[in-house]
Amino acid sequence: MANFGFEKIKRSNEGEVTQNQLYVTYDQICQCDCLGCRNKGLPKEEMESNRKLLNHAIMKNAEKFRHIIFGGGEPLYQIDHIVKVIHKIKKRREKIRHKLIRLLKGKTVEDDKISFSMTTNGERNGFLGSIDQRCWYCHQFDRIILSRYHYDDHVNDQLFRANGTLMTAYDIRNLCGALRNKMQLSCLCQEGGIQTSDDILHYIEWGKCFGIRDIMFSNYQQDITPDDAKQKDCDTEVFKKVQRILVEEQGYELVDTFVFSAGYKISTYRKPTIFDGIDKMSIMIGISLITGRVDGGIFQPIFDEDEGCTISFREFITEEEIEKEWSGAKKRTYNYSAMPNGAMYADWSCKNLI
Ligand code: SF4
Repeated sequence: MANFGFEKIKRSNEGEVTQNQLYVTYDQICQCDCLGCRNKGLPKEEMESNRKLLNHAIMKNAEKFRHIIFGGGEPLYQIDHIVKVIHKIKKRREKIRHKLIRLLKGKTVEDDKISFSMTTNGERNGFLGSIDQRCWYCHQFDRIILSRYHYDDHVNDQLFRANGTLMTAYDIRNLCGALRNKMQLSCLCQEGGIQTSDDILHYIEWGKCFGIRDIMFSNYQQDITPDDAKQKDCDTEVFKKVQRILVEEQGYELVDTFVFSAGYKISTYRKPTIFDGIDKMSIMIGISLITGRVDGGIFQPIFDEDEGCTISFREFITEEEIEKEWSGAKKRTYNYSAMPNGAMYADWSCKNLI
């Protein structure tokens, strides 16, 4: 299913069902040593770094994707280069758009947006020094995915085998609010970490305390997980239990199910806001008229602290299940990979070279 050459890829527009996502393994340098690291299972020659070739491959093919994720190794070690690449892609797109507007004599040209994400383990110095302090850097990304395997600093550190190099809960609490707004906490559920429904519910509360309203839980992807890590995988029945609790006891709704050719599906639950279906501005104007104050005065609406929170579950599923779900899925994504040596693959496990 994922065996597509680039000549067959056609980027689809927002609202259509099929999207293309590129995961860029920028480098293999990482200060951690996670048991389940995908990079350990990939061929050594693919992991040899050739930044020039990789940058060329990304730039040349960027237009074919709707979403590009920069990962690693730890991408913060390459942040200057990654930001430069993103900036160049954006600049080139802007140029093309203006050319089109000129050609179409001023008619509006819809920006067929690509979003950029980075997935990081939160290497403390890199994160606080580049992403947190430099707004322009932060601004280049639509989403910063922070891998955080446990709410307890000590357990988190142990699972990453990171020797105290990761951001602590205290650091996360003190991050700039704008950055927290685009942050997703990503928790790989596993033995010794988050593995029961109570753990997951506790983790959600912990994330919300810091103002992070986008949290994802996942399990191991068996085909790219080293053998000694496989038995640490968490039972996805636990996900189902939490999903039931979120819907039946906490008022969340299932808003999206996305199937990915890389062998997983993501189910997203969201707590509706009081503004869903109502125009927020009308409410604020109404309140201002009553109170005579632009900020809503003493009648500031009381918000549920969960409202608008998004909780997702990424479940790795078998090839047969994917085949079954794929044709009926409302939303689906083809996954592609770019490797440090510049090789491009039509899948996530690097089996189908393009
Ligand atoms: S942080 Fe990511 S790249 Fe580093 S060892 Fe862990 S899984 Fe691998």
